[in-house]
Amino acid sequence: MYSCYSCGKTYSLLEPRWRCDCGGFLTLPENAPFHRETFANRGYSIWRYRESYFLPPQAPSVSLGEGWTPIVSERIDGMEVRFKLDYLMPSGSFKDRGASVLVSLCKALGIEELVEDSSGNAGAAMAAYCAIAGIKCRIFAPAYTPDGKLIQTRLYGAEVVKVPGTRQDTNDAVLRAAAATYYGSHLWNPYFVQGHMSAAFELWEQLRGEVPHSLILPLGSGGYLEGIFRGFRTLHLAGLVRTIPRLIGVQAHHCRPLHEAFLLGLDEGAPVEVKPTLAEGIAVSRPPRAAAVLEAVRRSGGTILSVSEDSIRAAHGLLLRYGFFAEPTSAVALAGWLQLPPSERENSVILLTGHGLKESEKIAKMHGL
Ligand SMILES: [Zn+2]
Repeated sequence: MYSCYSCGKTYSLLEPRWRCDCGGFLTLPENAPFHRETFANRGYSIWRYRESYFLPPQAPSVSLGEGWTPIVSERIDGMEVRFKLDYLMPSGSFKDRGASVLVSLCKALGIEELVEDSSGNAGAAMAAYCAIAGIKCRIFAPAYTPDGKLIQTRLYGAEVVKVPGTRQDTNDAVLRAAAATYYGSHLWNPYFVQGHMSAAFELWEQLRGEVPHSLILPLGSGGYLEGIFRGFRTLHLAGLVRTIPRLIGVQAHHCRPLHEAFLLGLDEGAPVEVKPTLAEGIAVSRPPRAAAVLEAVRRSGGTILSVSEDSIRAAHGLLLRYGFFAEPTSAVALAGWLQLPPSERENSVILLTGHGLKESEKIAKMHGL
């Protein structure tokens, strides 16, 4: 059963629905099933934990083997820190976790065509999973989006619809299209969030039950953070962990609606002036699920930081020196970690979210090559 975060109205999971009639976003129950004995003999992908996603029983696993990304330990600034390399995914970003689960739901509902608006990792991930599921995928993007950003999406076979005008015009166009098809939105759909729970389950298994003090990740729309929180809540409710990590979301200073909201104690994203940032992947000025994301950060005892463009560039350079070829957006997490007082840096895991090969030309320019 879906329920609306704003008004509490409930809907059947078999309805092809992406938000409440009141305009609020939908959530799934918090008490997801999680039984060690059911997954012990399964392979190492996010589908090891399939019962936890609340998919209809007839849902297939639309999978490219995503998940179980490595955790690598390094010493930076005299302190040990672990990185989870979530950029090592089939389409090159953590978004494969969400896309795999959402497209599996679409398959179960008999959806033959969907629309989505993303010119970045989410669009590429949705295009990849729709391709293998045989679902027609149309990705809407503002006309000003450079063609290079949409190549991967196009090559997977998705139709790209460029919309003249602002980001809001693209948003309006995709909603009009959604009225006749299905809106497979990485920003709105709770099943996209549900897929991200797998990162928490993997951390728990890979670290053999140890719970890190902090998890630090780039924060844009916040679906990744919300999903990881839900994953650790599931483990907690199952009696498998006593505490959950502090979740520390990091935004770019140039686009920080959630950072401002956190500082001001708001339950919604704050209106902010947005400037261009190297961390394009998290430049989301009005995240629709902001209320759930802020709640997750607060309940975990975590915080939201913002970092400057210079510190993103420097942190990205540091990642390269350690051999991590991540996209610039991923570097905000390390920049955030470096901003913490040393006592709060201990026992942290930093999540690296997108592959640098997607943006090698931008990275070359960024470092003066
Ligand atoms: Zn509602």
